[in-house]
Amino acid sequence: MKIICIGRNYTEHIAELANEKPESPVIFMKPDSAVLPRQQDFYIPEFSEDVHHEVEVLVKIKKVGKHINQRFAHKYYDEVSLGIDFTARDLQAQLKAKGLPWEKAKGFDGAAVIGEWSPKEDFGDLDALDFKLLRNGEVAQQGNTSHMLWKIDELIAYISTYFTLKKGDVIFTGTPAGVSRVSPEDRLTGYIQDRKIFDINIK
Ligand code: ZN
Repeated sequence: MKIICIGRNYTEHIAELANEKPESPVIFMKPDSAVLPRQQDFYIPEFSEDVHHEVEVLVKIKKVGKHINQRFAHKYYDEVSLGIDFTARDLQAQLKAKGLPWEKAKGFDGAAVIGEWSPKEDFGDLDALDFKLLRNGEVAQQGNTSHMLWKIDELIAYISTYFTLKKGDVIFTGTPAGVSRVSPEDRLTGYIQDRKIFDINIK
């Protein structure tokens, strides 16, 4: 199973990190070892002083596909979820400054939170999906998938021109504005609409 992540997919998040708006989707990957096991706490790694939460809508691929036409992309996934793309922002900034790959900053153990999966039919129009991240009960990030630069089906078409998608692969579709540093004892709770999708304790 591979984890494919999209960077810079929401305009306001691009602005908060002072990044350039990309001409095509920014893609990176996390190894399967990055998945935080269910019910486990997230431990801030010792190599970072500035780990950020990035809440993102997730899609699980259900069958193999390559060069998927956008019109048929919806046939390749039945389930959606919400997750966190944990990012060691200090390390990422160093790597970006040197033009180096981001893997150490985004692919470390536990850096991929994957919440409970739900049938996509449960949520209506996936291109107009409200989601949010609460931190200690207060809204830290909220988004709506209608604000994505590239929608889910466009992303699947684009990704599959480079990488064969396989059953069980997970796509992280990018984060809206509001990313910030996590601290020990924080509790992060993710919602799609009114449904709680995950609950994570930071250590
Ligand atoms: Zn992200």
